[in-house]
Amino acid sequence: MISIQGKGVSIGVAIGPLYYYRRVKSTIRRYEVEDKDAEWARFKEAQQKAIEQLGVLAEKAREEAGDEAALLFETHQLMAEDMEYEEAIEEAIKGSGLNAEAAVTDTAAQFADMFAAMDDAYFQARAADVKDVSDRIISVLTGAVSGGIDSPVPVILAADDLAPSETVQLDKGKILGFVTEGGSGSSHTAILARTMGIPAIIGVGDKLKAEYEGREVIIDGSNGNIVVDADEPTRERYEQKLEEQKKNRALLEELKGLSNETKDGQSIRVYCNIGSPDDVPAVLSNDGGGIGLFRSEFLYLNCDDYPSEDYQFEAYKKVLSDMEGKEVIIRTLDIGADKQIDYFDLPKEENPALGNRALRICLNRPEIFHTQIRALYRASAYGKLGIMFPMVTSVWEVKEARKMCDRVKEELDKEGIPYSDDVELGIMIETPAAAVMSDRLAKEVDFFSCGTNDLTQYTLACDRQNADLGRFFNPHHPAVLRLLKMVCDNAHKHGTWVGICGELGADLELTETFLSIGIDELSVSPRSVLPLRKKIRETNVADCKERLIADLLSDEITI
Ligand code: PEP
Ligand code: MG
Repeated sequence: MISIQGKGVSIGVAIGPLYYYRRVKSTIRRYEVEDKDAEWARFKEAQQKAIEQLGVLAEKAREEAGDEAALLFETHQLMAEDMEYEEAIEEAIKGSGLNAEAAVTDTAAQFADMFAAMDDAYFQARAADVKDVSDRIISVLTGAVSGGIDSPVPVILAADDLAPSETVQLDKGKILGFVTEGGSGSSHTAILARTMGIPAIIGVGDKLKAEYEGREVIIDGSNGNIVVDADEPTRERYEQKLEEQKKNRALLEELKGLSNETKDGQSIRVYCNIGSPDDVPAVLSNDGGGIGLFRSEFLYLNCDDYPSEDYQFEAYKKVLSDMEGKEVIIRTLDIGADKQIDYFDLPKEENPALGNRALRICLNRPEIFHTQIRALYRASAYGKLGIMFPMVTSVWEVKEARKMCDRVKEELDKEGIPYSDDVELGIMIETPAAAVMSDRLAKEVDFFSCGTNDLTQYTLACDRQNADLGRFFNPHHPAVLRLLKMVCDNAHKHGTWVGICGELGADLELTETFLSIGIDELSVSPRSVLPLRKKIRETNVADCKERLIADLLSDEITI
C-alpha cells in the first residue's frame, strides 16, 4: 500500500483505477517503411477511426447545441476522406515510402498552406480545419488519446495539469475523480471538479508514478489523501466514508424545495455556476435558483474556429429554455491568461493575467463581441437573461460594452428579430479598481457579481494558478473581505444588487459574513447549493452581524 499527500480541492471519496491523461506527442517520427501496402492499410484504418470519433462528437454537439454545431464535425468527417487529400497521402506513403504519421503531417502542412494563401476568408479558415483533422488521424496512428479516455470503466484521471481546453473535451461520465501534479484550488480543473461534484486533489508533484496506472487508487478530496493498492482495513474505512457521503447527501436532499432563508428571515438567492448547457440538469437536480455564472468561453474553447452567431444562439437558447424562466446570467467571453485559444492568435504576453483578456479582447475586437451580443439578445426571447462583463476596471469600458448592446438591439429591431427588453446588465467585480470605483460603476449597471478568484489574485498580487503560493493566496484576507463589504455598500446605495460567483461563495466559513454585509446572491457549483442552504437556514444574522462586521473593520487585524 502506498500513501501520497496532495491538496484536496473538491471534497468526496472516489475509488477506481488510475488512468493517465495523454496528449498528442508533438514530435512525429519520420522513417521509411518496408511494406508500403501495410502502411497504407494502417493509414486507412486510422482514417476510419477518426471519422467515427468525429461522428460521435457531431452527435454530442447536436444534443448540446443543435444542428449547426454538429455541422463543424460533419465537415471534418468529409475533409478526412477528401479525395485530393487522400491521394496526396497515398502518394507520400506508396510513392515515397514515408510512414503514415509523416505522410499525414506533410500533406496537412501542404493543404493548410494552400488554403492560407487563398484570398477568400472562408477558405483561409479551412487551414485550421485541415490541421485539426490531420492531428486527429495522427493521434489515432500514434495511439495518443487526445482529450479522450480510452477505458471501458470510469477512472481516476491523473495529469500534470489540465488546460481548460482539455478539460472541456473530457467525457465526464468516465471520470470518478482528478489528481494533478500541479494546479491550484482556483484553477479551472478544480472548478470543473466542483461543478461536476467529483473529488479532486492537486499538487501531488512527482509522487504519483506512471507505473501506478491501472492499479486501484482511493482519493479523498476533503483531506488530499491518495492511497494506491489499499490494504483491506484501509479500503473498508474508505468504503465506509463513501457510504456516509451518500447518507449525508440523502439528508441534504430533504432541503430541496425549501427557501434560502435565515432563522431571522433574511433571504439570499443561491444560484449555480456552469460551463456548458450540459450542466443544466445538475443545476435543476440540486435545486439551484438560477444560473449566476455561465462561463461562455467554454463554448469557444470547444470549437476549432470562432463559433458563429447561430451556434452560440442555440447554446444560450438551450440553457435559457431548460431553466424554464429562472434567471440565467451569461458572462461574455473571458479568455486570456490560463484560457488560451489558438485560433484567436493572440500575441504572447509577459504577464497574461494582466494582459489582453476578457472584456479587453471584446472591446479591441468588436466583431467578436458583436457576434456574441447578437446571439445573447436573440436568445433572450427564450427566458430570463442577464449579461455580465468580466475584468472591468473603468467606467468607460462599461459604457462601451453597453453601446454594443444598444447597437445590437437596434439591429434586431430593424430585422424584426424578437428579444426581451428585460435583460439585466451587470459587471464582474474582479479587480481592485472595479471595487474601489464601485460607487460610480453601480450607476451604470443592474448588478455586480464578485469574481473572488480573480479579485483575490489581483488584490493580493498573487497568481491563482501558482501552486507554490498556497498560503499567500488567501481569499479570507481582510483586504478581500473589506473590498466585498465596500462593493455591497456602494451598490446598495444605487439599488444595484450584488452577488458572488467566485469559489468563495461556497465557503461555509464565510456564509455568515456574506449575509451580514448584505450579499444578495451566491452563485456556486451545483453540488454546493444544498450544503449552503443548510448553513443559511441555521444562521441567525442578528446574532452575528455586529460582531462580524466589527471584526472585519477592526484596527486589530494584523494578517
Ligand atoms: C472569478 O474570477 O472569481 C470568476 C468567477 O471567474 P473565473 O474563475 O472564470 O476567472
Ligand atoms: Mg475571473
